[in-house]
Amino acid sequence: MSNRDFKVSVTKLLSHPGEPLEVELAGLIGDQFVSSAWVEEGSTTHLSGSLEAVHSGVMFSGVAKVNIVTECRRCLCHSKADLVVEIRELFESDYKEDEGDTYPIHGEFVDLEEMVRDAVVLALPPAPLCKEECAGLCVTCGVDKNLVSCGHDNQGRDPRFSILDQLR
Ligand SMILES: [Zn+2]
Ligand SMILES: [Zn+2]
Repeated sequence: MSNRDFKVSVTKLLSHPGEPLEVELAGLIGDQFVSSAWVEEGSTTHLSGSLEAVHSGVMFSGVAKVNIVTECRRCLCHSKADLVVEIRELFESDYKEDEGDTYPIHGEFVDLEEMVRDAVVLALPPAPLCKEECAGLCVTCGVDKNLVSCGHDNQGRDPRFSILDQLR
């Protein structure tokens, strides 16, 4: 199903340069994830900012907000968090796909969804921790040492051979 929530008409913007267009949009951006973090299922992404006509097209600047879930890299517990991403991207009429760092203007409108998706994926934390001092899983018996003290001191064990890493 195509998502129309992030489409904005730029007709007026292009015919009246100098008058920025304020945008407040909300919609779903689908399953976006990196290995240990993802957009919470069904969470709406809110986008606010402005579009401005510039020499080569239309510039968006603003902020996207969405709920995410992160998986602690030490104890594997899941936490919810708010992701807030600042975005500033150019949309061009003579967009060339292989140049890659701008987005297309489709005739009379821009679709901000791809830009939002890209920004959110880039901002997802690559190696989250539930807390800085997370004790992680015991490399001997596998219990969550934040919850249980199993008595293993695991001294001399190379943490690279932990149960957690063997699962990866
Ligand atoms: Zn943890
Ligand atoms: Zn243990």
